Amino acid sequence: MPPYRQQIAANVARVRERIARAALAAGRAPEAIGLVAVSKYVGSPEAEALLAAGCPVLGESRPQQLFEKSSCPALAGASWHLIGHLQRNKIRRTLPLVSLIHSVDSPRLLQSIDRVAGELSLSARVLLEVNCSGDAEKGGFSQQQLLDLLPRLPEFPHVEVRGLMTMAARRGGNRVAARNFAALRGLRDRAKSECPPGVSLHELSMGMSADFEVAIREGATLVRIGSLLFDGVPGA
Ligand SMILES: *Cc1c(COP(=O)(O)O)cnc(C)c1O
Repeated sequence: MPPYRQQIAANVARVRERIARAALAAGRAPEAIGLVAVSKYVGSPEAEALLAAGCPVLGESRPQQLFEKSSCPALAGASWHLIGHLQRNKIRRTLPLVSLIHSVDSPRLLQSIDRVAGELSLSARVLLEVNCSGDAEKGGFSQQQLLDLLPRLPEFPHVEVRGLMTMAARRGGNRVAARNFAALRGLRDRAKSECPPGVSLHELSMGMSADFEVAIREGATLVRIGSLLFDGVPGA
C-alpha cells in the first residue's frame, strides 16, 4: 500500500474527529455536518484514497478537473460536487456528473443551468453563492441580490435550490470569518419568509481547512475541506 493512503486515512480520521467535536460543542449532531473532501490538489490515486477512507463526496473547483477525475473508473463510487465557478459553456457536460453545484453566482448562470437541465431532462441541485465578506475578488450574490432573486425561483423549474454557500474574507482570521458565516445564516433565516413554497434553503456550505470549526459553530451543514486532508502527502 503506498504510504500516502495511510496518511490520507489518518488525516480524514482527524478531520472527522474535529468536525464531531465542533458539532458537539455547538450542541449539534455530528451527522448534521457533511464533509465535502476537496480533491483539487491531487490526482486520481490520492482522490481514490479519500474514497477508501470513507469520503464519498468529493469536491472540485474546476469543471475540467471534474471531467477528468469523474471519468476515472477507480472513482466511479464518488459523488461529485462542483465548488468553483461554472462557465456557461461547461454546463451541459457538468450537470450529469454532479450531485450538487455550490457556486451558482448569477441569475444568468441560474437561467442557463435551468435551460440545459430541462433539455437533459434532469433536475439540477444547486446552492446560491453569496458574497458575505465584501472581498471584491470573490464572486457571488450580494445579500440584497439574493433576497431579490428568491421570489423568482419558480421561473427555474429544472433547478432545485438547496441552500446557500459562502467563503470567508481572506483577511481577518476567525473573528471575521465568524461574522461572515453568521451573516450567511442570518440571511438564510431572513430569506425563509421570501422563499416560494417547496424551497427550503436547508444547506449552508461554509468553512474550509482554516475555519471549518467556526463555520460549524455558526450553523454550517456542509464543510469543504482540502488542504488538511493532504497534510504530509508528497506532491499535494
Ligand atoms: C479549494 C477550496 C476549498 C478547500 O480549501 P482548503 O483551505 O484547502 O480546505 C473550499 N472551497 C472552495 C470554494 C475551494 O475552492
